[in-house]
Amino acid sequence: MKIAILPGDGIGTEIMAEAVKVLNVLDLKLETEQALVGGAAYEAHGHPLPESTLNLAKSADAVLFGAVGDWKYDKLERQLRPEQAILGLRKHLGLFANFRPAICYEQLTHASSLKPELVAGLDILIIRELTGDIYFGQPRGRRVAIDGHFPGAEEAFDTMRYSKPEIERIAHVAFQAARRRNKKVTSVDKANVLETFQFWKDVVTEVHAQYPDVALDHMYVDNAAMQLVKAPKAFDVVVTGNMFGDILSDEAAMLTGSIGMLPSASLDKNNKGLYEPSHGSAPDIAGKGIANPLATILSAAMMLRFSLNQPEAAARIESAVRSVLSAGLRTGDIWSEGTRKVGTREMGDAVVAALVTTTTITKG
Ligand code: NAD
Repeated sequence: MKIAILPGDGIGTEIMAEAVKVLNVLDLKLETEQALVGGAAYEAHGHPLPESTLNLAKSADAVLFGAVGDWKYDKLERQLRPEQAILGLRKHLGLFANFRPAICYEQLTHASSLKPELVAGLDILIIRELTGDIYFGQPRGRRVAIDGHFPGAEEAFDTMRYSKPEIERIAHVAFQAARRRNKKVTSVDKANVLETFQFWKDVVTEVHAQYPDVALDHMYVDNAAMQLVKAPKAFDVVVTGNMFGDILSDEAAMLTGSIGMLPSASLDKNNKGLYEPSHGSAPDIAGKGIANPLATILSAAMMLRFSLNQPEAAARIESAVRSVLSAGLRTGDIWSEGTRKVGTREMGDAVVAALVTTTTITKG
């Protein structure tokens, strides 16, 4: 099993070092190869996604990605900015299904801005379609309006569109994911206003006929945004388009209180994927050794489960993370009175130690 390791920029290199440490103590035959991406790749090769990095990502069974970006690159022309590397990888690897779990660990319920009883035990999965919708629809641009409220005025426009196969494949992904969980899918749309999302709703309903064991309901996106803060535990799997998913997955992330804890996966049609923490490169804390590495470590667990078919190893990592939290270790972002503040490396070492202990127990 070959894994492409792309640490990226800012805290990317620090958190990735801890995830690699965790992967290395597992009793698995993993081959890892590292490459530059984002601003680091731009500095070395003049492009955020050099050919060599893309080829490595293509040849690997999975990609573990840190984070990219820094404010110092904001003045570069768009296609040279670090964030373009993510878009390029999504496009070239055909990653159309984005998995964003929002899990609220019992030990961290206080970190949420919602009442503990609303989020304790929260475990929902937002599945966002990643390669279509208004973000990629053509035509788009600026022009002089020929109609509308102000004919003759300058205007900008984008195109929202989804084809039937695009909706079918993400619907299948959602129903199959729900089968491994609590067997409930909520499809989020804006069918009352948008033609594209009336079509979305019709196609999801059609695909549902193949999954009679999974419950399906439909919800308008404005209501979904409200229900996520009112009764988030009522959801199991949420499936939606690119733009609504972009917004709702960040809202769901915040229910848990800490972005430093949340992994994510972007999968292709064969379950090959790119795994990364939900947060960015955090330039404000880069190099200080205080970033939370758990989102990246949990991304590695997702990678073992979804792309490398190692569910037991994934579960072991997740349980090691839980035990470290139960022992009271916290990085600054999740620290609270009465717990012990640790740095990035110490947190990674604690997860490794918890894994080694469980290995020793398992092996008798
Ligand atoms: P960010 O997620 O990097 O940081 C937001 C806040 O959360 C900061 O205060 C940061 O210190 C904190 N934070 C983030 N991750 C943390 C962790 N693991 N441990 C502790 N604290 C953590 O978002 P931003 O500041 O808006 O963006 C910074 C850069 O990251 C920008 O260049 C942006 O474009 C880029 N970015 C990249 C990705 C990605 O690589 N997938 C995603 C989002 C943003």
